[in-house]
Amino acid sequence: MARPSAESTRESNVSIDVDALRARYARERSRRMSAGRGGTVESLDEVPGTSQDPHTAPIVRPPVRDVTDVAIVGAGFGGLLVGAHLRKAGVTSIRLIDKAGDVGGTWYWNRYPGAQCDVESYIYLPLLEEIGYIPKEKYSRQPEIFAHGQAIARQFDLYEGALFQTQVTGMRWNADSSRWTIETDRGDEILARFVCMVNGPLNRPKLPAIDGISTFKGHRFHTSRWDYDYTGGTTEGGLSRLSDKSVGIIGSGATAVQCVPHLGRDAGELYVFQRTPSTIAVRGNRPTDSSWAEQLQPGWQKQRIENFCAIMAGEPNTEDFVQDGWTDAFKRLSADPRLATITDSNERLALVELADLKLGEDIRARIAEIVGDATVRETLRPYYWYFCKRPCFHDEFLSTFNRPNVHLVDAAEGIDRITEDGVVVDGRQYKVDCLIFATGFEVGTPYARRAGYEVLGVDGLTLSEKWADGVSTLHGMTTRGFPNLIFSPGQEGQFAWFAVNVTHALTEFANHAAHIISESLRDNVTSFEPTELAEDEWVQTIIARSPRLNPGSRSNLEFQKSCTPSYLNNDGHPENVPAQNAPFAGNPMEFYSILREWRANGDFAGLDLRREQESE
Ligand code: NDP
Repeated sequence: MARPSAESTRESNVSIDVDALRARYARERSRRMSAGRGGTVESLDEVPGTSQDPHTAPIVRPPVRDVTDVAIVGAGFGGLLVGAHLRKAGVTSIRLIDKAGDVGGTWYWNRYPGAQCDVESYIYLPLLEEIGYIPKEKYSRQPEIFAHGQAIARQFDLYEGALFQTQVTGMRWNADSSRWTIETDRGDEILARFVCMVNGPLNRPKLPAIDGISTFKGHRFHTSRWDYDYTGGTTEGGLSRLSDKSVGIIGSGATAVQCVPHLGRDAGELYVFQRTPSTIAVRGNRPTDSSWAEQLQPGWQKQRIENFCAIMAGEPNTEDFVQDGWTDAFKRLSADPRLATITDSNERLALVELADLKLGEDIRARIAEIVGDATVRETLRPYYWYFCKRPCFHDEFLSTFNRPNVHLVDAAEGIDRITEDGVVVDGRQYKVDCLIFATGFEVGTPYARRAGYEVLGVDGLTLSEKWADGVSTLHGMTTRGFPNLIFSPGQEGQFAWFAVNVTHALTEFANHAAHIISESLRDNVTSFEPTELAEDEWVQTIIARSPRLNPGSRSNLEFQKSCTPSYLNNDGHPENVPAQNAPFAGNPMEFYSILREWRANGDFAGLDLRREQESE
């Protein structure tokens, strides 16, 4: 199963000046701690090209009035997996609803040139064995991932009754009928016995609150709404209509890292406005070896997924099947064999800190090897602890900055403003014909704003009201006062979703959600919701496990505060996020086994159940 590693970041033997690097990390962090750095514009309507669907022609249809057993809001991999597991459990009455023009979620919207998943395809694409598909490359590109989502929808008959280009506008619980009423922007009214909300954690494009953002007169769009009519080309590149254009791109996260090489190749001039450099380790993509694929035995995918998860969880002495930049970094930071014997927490922390600094030096050394210009090189160098930001992996991004038409603009302290003609940084205006927002997705804004609708539970209580002081759930999936509602692992947490391979978390989620719903249907359960006790206990479990409250942990609050600001630490203020709004910390496999045992016990522990005869 294992393959030789060709792509680990080379581990250096350079000596590390720990104090100097610590001081540099702190200095770079404070440069970026500008007030209001995480702000977003009030409405996406302020900037065209950020909310419309450029990928599917408008769908025309009359409003739907319907009763269904299960409504699934969101047809990305989460919704598709819930649907697939429900079908496997024999549920027939299912309706998928999504604001996109097709299934796919993230992979429907994000079709920018170079869009690709940097988590290995053999573990990322779900249900490979059921679908009978082997990805073409170690890292799948957007068209293949999107097509795989469509294949799942076809195989499990999920297009039947699906409502696309349909935004849910409201959802309310009717105690009399024990049904949810779902309203949409198409005038639909759907009564659903059970609802699964799988909206995705990163679904609302983020437009930063930069002064003057709506005044720009040139062309503009967000990367998740890529305008190929304007740029020419496809996700494979060939942006021929940009050859005489000056293009600006704001952002240097995982999305920008993938599309900048194409923009650099095809645009007349390219200005990359970078606030924080990403860490760029080796990607090492390659075609799938057919002889390897032919010898795979049934169950191989689950085994590979769990192997990756074990390495991410820092399990020592685990054979590494995937062998890539992710596993390399995790092994270097958390699987040092000496950690098994050192018990003193300060010694342990010092060991991990040193490994982190060495990894940082290797990342910075790679930049020096590839980038020619000394100033550009220095601006591209990331100075922060490795997991303070989402790591990136790419083999063409850095060399793009050697092109004479590509200009890196250091906006560490922020962008001054956007004008009718371009972008101003440090008092200098950069004129551009087109401005691309690679600024990501909203994190930490109110739940209803990101979902696009409010959920009214028992007695009209909204989910936002219920969670105003902190999230409370059972297993991160159900919450008291909102019967028959299961929500996906999202930003609000309390589920083990933060495990790099998001589709693994979604698979475990879908399996559990489908179990609760299909068993409720079979057993004539009219409503389920967590008991107050079970919910309180789960909140306490999340808080007790929280590494940020543990002085011996490298993820404690002090460490998070020392991180460069990003959406991972609430833009430098992690103390403002309630401790309970966290994922289940530790080994995700432990969490999945809690769910597995809960299902195996068969008693729906912690859920208040009402059956047909009781509710009459
Ligand atoms: P990110 O949120 O990761 O990055 C946004 C970028 O915009 C950052 O560089 C950020 O700077 C910058 N930015 C935001 N606001 C401002 C501002 N006011 N002024 C200047 N710069 C600003 O978004 P992405 O679209 O890159 O990624 C979105 C998500 O999708 C991430 O979770 C990412 O990991 C994931 N993804 C995964 C991929 C995969 O291969 N699996 C591929 C692509 C994306 P700063 O860093 O300073 O905040």
